[in-house]
Amino acid sequence: MTAKDIVDIGRRMYDKGHIVAHDGNLSVFHGNTVYITPANISKGFMHEDQIVEMTLDGNVLNAAVPSTEYKMHLAIYRNNRKARAIVHSHPIYATTYACMGMPLKSELLAEAKFQLGDIPLVKYQVPGTDEAAESCIPYCNDYNGLLLEKHGLVTWGVNLTDAYFKTEIAEFLARITYNIGRSDR
Ligand SMILES: [Zn+2]
Repeated sequence: MTAKDIVDIGRRMYDKGHIVAHDGNLSVFHGNTVYITPANISKGFMHEDQIVEMTLDGNVLNAAVPSTEYKMHLAIYRNNRKARAIVHSHPIYATTYACMGMPLKSELLAEAKFQLGDIPLVKYQVPGTDEAAESCIPYCNDYNGLLLEKHGLVTWGVNLTDAYFKTEIAEFLARITYNIGRSDR
């Protein structure tokens, strides 16, 4: 069921334009296993047997290559034991703020304030590196997501639906923030 959930959510994210081409990655931490999307395969076209299984220490358990950003997922799971699923994507409005180097403030919108919280900005690190993974650690217990400078958005939650909805709320907040900035008030 875990692999099927990842395939289903990946397709939704691709269809909604939150990710393009091979972008983004999703994972679920269940039992002692991290189930994560594979490298170089579009999340809009995945099959269940392509989902990679690995340990929290980074050992791959099946014959597959995990996302190049798997270290970020493992770092968040190791440092926030309540996190059971992680969604990383490049939604256009949230990514716009990430590229401008601006965090998202949840006080603008009731749903964001109560269901998401602020989304801080993490300074740019090359995606997939140890440094990129370590840069998330100071934030992963106090927030539900992060903007990765010049890159995109990552959210986590108690299950995959929760993590995915936090991505949707963050993107909605970014869109509202953009519209306010564009208004004539
Ligand atoms: Zn990315």
